[in-house]
Amino acid sequence: MAGLAIITEACIDTKDRACVDVCPVQCIYEYDPAKNILFSEAEAGSGVTENTHAPNPDAIAIFGDSTLYVNLDECTSCTACYQPDVCPVGAIYPDDHLPTAEPNGPKYNSSDPNKGHDHRFFLQLSSDVFAD
Ligand code: SF4
Ligand code: SF4
Repeated sequence: MAGLAIITEACIDTKDRACVDVCPVQCIYEYDPAKNILFSEAEAGSGVTENTHAPNPDAIAIFGDSTLYVNLDECTSCTACYQPDVCPVGAIYPDDHLPTAEPNGPKYNSSDPNKGHDHRFFLQLSSDVFAD
């Protein structure tokens, strides 16, 4: 399915959870290191867990709880989270428009500080981080 949401490097250590509040299916997950689970909420910080998954140990070890992760099996490509006014650092892209650092490739979001980077790493990471 095209249009799956991919969270990229700019989210790391920003993680303000604005995308969580606009996702209608609670498929954007946060990592809880104390419980070693990925969990989602309908409203960020509400304390009400909607869904959980087990993390893949190797994949979650890369960035841990410093970023959020979209479950690509659950994302409906609704487009809400990658509208320009949602993520303050432009970290979210549709999977079929991930910038690759090639001159004529897909455009970077205007507020993404990582222009010039190849963002495809995060497509694989999004797939790998959910163990179930
Ligand atoms: S595209 Fe829609 S369903 Fe997918 S993560 Fe973003 S808000 Fe959620
Ligand atoms: S809105 Fe952007 S920076 Fe905030 S948690 Fe979501 S992806 Fe990360």
